[in-house]
Amino acid sequence: MEVKDNMVVGMHYTLKNDAGEVIDSSEGQEPLLFLQGHGNIISGLESALNGKTIGDKLDVTVEPEDAYGIRHEEAIQELPMSAFEGVGELTVGMMLQAQTEHGPMPITITSIDGDKVTIDGNHQLAGERLHFNVSIESVREATEEEIEHGHVHDGHSHH
Ligand code: ZN
Repeated sequence: MEVKDNMVVGMHYTLKNDAGEVIDSSEGQEPLLFLQGHGNIISGLESALNGKTIGDKLDVTVEPEDAYGIRHEEAIQELPMSAFEGVGELTVGMMLQAQTEHGPMPITITSIDGDKVTIDGNHQLAGERLHFNVSIESVREATEEEIEHGHVHDGHSHH
């Protein structure tokens, strides 16, 4: 059975950045299950997996445009400490939900200098070229309900 749209795929993966550091891995866990063709995983990896089958191992390099996007400088802002009233103690690296006109957006506090707080709304992997080492562990047809919902129902909790 081949990986194509509307198939449920189980894969083991290791994700490294350009510097060769491991960012994420399924090692020691169950294979990651996803529904192919529904944006469950980044587009660059989805297209590389098309046509692969169980037992296939592949190395995939994904450019930022096909991963978490490029970095936007305008997503980096300096705000006064008073903008964070009620949040509690702020620390560098802390992640918060900012309410924006486009809805809630995750932001990271990247520096605190006296009364000035710098936030970054870029995804932590924005601008990064990603290197995946993937092995396909399972491929099955999705149920109609899974296709309708756009995600895998693994028999445990639904959502
Ligand atoms: Zn569902």
